[in-house]
Amino acid sequence: MSTQKKASEPYCGFEQGPIRPPSEASSLLIRVTRNCPWNRCTFCPVYKGAQFSLRPVEHVKQDIDAVHRSVEMIRETADESGRIRRAEIRSAAQNTEKLDSQAFNAALNWFAGGMRSIFIQDANSLIIKPSDLVEILAHLKNRFPWVERITSYARSHTITRIKDDYLKAMMDAGLNRIHIGLESGSDQVLKMTRKGVTKEIHIKAGLKVKKAGMELSEYIMPGLGGRKYSEVHALETADVLNQIDPEFIRLRTLAIPPGMELYEDMESGRFEKCTDLMMAKETLLLIESLDGITSVVKSDHILNLFENVEGKLPEDKKRMLEIIRTFLEMKPERQSLYQLGRRLGFFANLGDMESPRRLAKAEKTSKQLGITPENVDEVIDELMRRFI
Ligand code: SF4
Repeated sequence: MSTQKKASEPYCGFEQGPIRPPSEASSLLIRVTRNCPWNRCTFCPVYKGAQFSLRPVEHVKQDIDAVHRSVEMIRETADESGRIRRAEIRSAAQNTEKLDSQAFNAALNWFAGGMRSIFIQDANSLIIKPSDLVEILAHLKNRFPWVERITSYARSHTITRIKDDYLKAMMDAGLNRIHIGLESGSDQVLKMTRKGVTKEIHIKAGLKVKKAGMELSEYIMPGLGGRKYSEVHALETADVLNQIDPEFIRLRTLAIPPGMELYEDMESGRFEKCTDLMMAKETLLLIESLDGITSVVKSDHILNLFENVEGKLPEDKKRMLEIIRTFLEMKPERQSLYQLGRRLGFFANLGDMESPRRLAKAEKTSKQLGITPENVDEVIDELMRRFI
């Protein structure tokens, strides 16, 4: 466990890290560590080349205080219904020397989003000393007592090394949801992509989070096993999820940007990427295999093929499977059209193909790009890289 640094480095103002889960779009982002302490997953571009470091607790508290000052000022400027005029606020902010502009912008966005949740950054905040995290959480609660949810990313490996009492103390201090990048339940896939965990560790970590009373959000990555491990990836991932029964299962389809190790593996032929059709079959097998759990499946990532393959288990399982089966039973030309339209944002789901306007747009672009069932995945790969 890493001990948070003493404030020997100077405080340089409010900081924010590069990413947060899609479901934390309205959350205030509070950076406790910088980058990823593992940073070896072959499919992950986010923190490559960036060194991991801890931020001194005092600096994190200064960030929190800076946001608090801005929130107070914004509240004073808002009218009775809570409406704020940005121009007025900005001019007030310019006249207030004490405000940190980055913290002010974060506060403004947070205020507009309802100020209900906070996300602790970066990739694995639970790696810091538990008492330091509890101190930061207590400060957050003290400054923003109305907040309903405080969440963080954490690696399964890190969670298994934290004593249950400490996890419970974090929960009691307000940390009530953990996002884990499970990616796969297959040991072969985890090893191949250097995730640094095993199936057993994933299960143990998930159960520990639940035991502490926190909500658990598990991210899984369709396509991560490639063609070789597609089936085992689906079956083993479902097995892990069945043993944990997390509150949320979130789908985030694999994409492989250049520069990644997995990209090199793909170029050299060591990794054969699944086509969209294969990934649809894999997702079908995964959802078919989810059994005896009550998780909510979410498809809240632009890279996913179907935005509406989501719902509560077990009652929505049949509907989710029907959507994928409908796609798999379509003619190849129509499948390609859907794939392209989805990636370009013309379609969010199969029902959107019934809109003549949307369909015409997809058909026109398909013609322009010379899309066929044979080349559609190649063209789409190029398009997907722009969303990573
Ligand atoms: S642990 Fe998470 S953030 Fe770190 S390299 Fe792996 S996927 Fe990326």
